[in-house]
Amino acid sequence: ETLLEVKNVTMVFPDGTEALKGINFTIKKGELVSIIGPSGAGKSTLMRSLNLLNKPTEGSISFEGEDVIAAKGRQLRHIRRRIGMVFQHFNLVKRSPAYLNVLHGRLGYVSTIKGGLGRFSEADTRGALEILRRVGLEDQAFKRADELSGGQQQRVGIARAIAQSPSLLLADEPIASLDPSSSENVMVYLKSVCQEDGLTSIVNLHQVDFAKQFADRIIGVKAGEIVFDGTPRELTDGI
Ligand code: ADP
Ligand code: ADP
Repeated sequence: ETLLEVKNVTMVFPDGTEALKGINFTIKKGELVSIIGPSGAGKSTLMRSLNLLNKPTEGSISFEGEDVIAAKGRQLRHIRRRIGMVFQHFNLVKRSPAYLNVLHGRLGYVSTIKGGLGRFSEADTRGALEILRRVGLEDQAFKRADELSGGQQQRVGIARAIAQSPSLLLADEPIASLDPSSSENVMVYLKSVCQEDGLTSIVNLHQVDFAKQFADRIIGVKAGEIVFDGTPRELTDGI
């Protein structure tokens, strides 16, 4: 079953940079796809196109049958709620404890700010603790985000993203700021939560070895074009 269909997506920035040149791929439900490629290849631009943080200049993107590029206002917010994001620099609220960062994902930033932290119910808190348990952080739930290690912070980032019950998880260079052992640990948790939930994910990585180790499928991008699309086994010579 198709979750996402990207057709002929092109992105030319206002300064004339052609970051994406006619990108085509289809992603099935439940796949863990890694996008790899050198710095400047267009990985981040591609990922940002999927939830319209960058609006492509050409092409179409269909997500769960909806036209992402045409979406505006309410419909766009509805699409974005179904796409969980994980960031290179975690983007946590540093002074907030881990479980409240997770609740931000569940309830949305706007309701968090407007409603105030006191509005969370006990059930909300229990839900956040359960999700933190799934990424091995049950003992860190009440620690401030900035008291956690980088790998732990990224696991909070993953917990926050899955708390919104997305249909797609987008992780943009989630391990680029981590040392190799924390990187591996973060990828193990990312993969296991996706598998448990049957969640589809797209992970930008510049480390080919991690892509080979964890992905079901690898899409290689260079200079705005897809140069490889296949299984880790098929990727023998790099991209
Ligand atoms: P990657 O994620 O693979 O490192 P990016 O998607 O960040 O690559 O960038 C692709 C190309 O687009 C690069 O040449 C980059 O400099 C350029 N680029 C990215 N964002 C912008 C922007 N807002 N304006 C102009 N050029 C941009
Ligand atoms: P990160 O790798 O942490 O995502 P980047 O440095 O790639 O950060 O990009 C940060 C922001 O700068 C993004 O919004 C991106 O679109 C923009 N950007 C990246 N490259 C360029 C560029 N060459 N010109 C203008 N903006 C850019």
